[in-house]
Amino acid sequence: MRKKIVAGNWKMFNDISESCSLVAEIKKNDATIPEAVTVVVCPPFPSLAAVSSVLQGSRIAVGAQNMSEHDQGAYTGEVSWKMLKSAGCLYVILGHSERRQYFHETDELINVKVKKAISGGLIPIVCVGEHLEEREKGITNQIIATQVKGVLRGLSEKEMNLVIVAYEPVWAIGTGKNATPVQAQEVHQLIRKLISQLYNWQIADSTTIQYGGSVKPDNAADLLAQDDIDGALVGGASLKAGAFLSIAAAADR
Ligand code: PEP
Repeated sequence: MRKKIVAGNWKMFNDISESCSLVAEIKKNDATIPEAVTVVVCPPFPSLAAVSSVLQGSRIAVGAQNMSEHDQGAYTGEVSWKMLKSAGCLYVILGHSERRQYFHETDELINVKVKKAISGGLIPIVCVGEHLEEREKGITNQIIATQVKGVLRGLSEKEMNLVIVAYEPVWAIGTGKNATPVQAQEVHQLIRKLISQLYNWQIADSTTIQYGGSVKPDNAADLLAQDDIDGALVGGASLKAGAFLSIAAAADR
């Protein structure tokens, strides 16, 4: 059975004390998280260590929102896999559309980061998704195929077994416009088929594919009820403990 994973991308919100309060609130109510669902919180870098320490002894894991492709060196402003691990991270989001859009990350760079994360012992949550103009032009499938092949290029079967893919249509991120369950399911099915062509059905069938893009408590159940949607990558709604936990509860279908 595929793992169901709900991750909260806090983006550039919450200082250390705000992060600790939010995660303490989530932890206090973690009994509502279904057994079968893994919950991950991804605060900004400065809060990672403090959040990990608040979460000690809980089932909630910690992830980062980005990571350098280098091990160490003169890369001012960058953060390595080793630093993330020492701050208590198990997961890392890579290739988020905001990284692609504002920091010019390409599939090639994201692919290098994915390999680096895995070799460093982190589980990558790799994002793909089309822009509105691409959907309107009818080229969503081509865009997704290019991104999926690009970010997974050269990964061994063993490495692929560790990857989580997040389908995040760019037009649905932070806009309040989510993809309909049918639109999301279509692309998730395509991603699974692409993985089966790159690897095999067994790997494709066991890969967790999250949906992200304006997931809220009131649309989560319908999205997460789709056959190929195995969890959610949640932005805005992950900043409120109650909303985030109710999305996590909806992942147990
Ligand atoms: C995201 O940041 O990955 C995201 C999906 O944001 P939102 O839920 O706010 O659309």
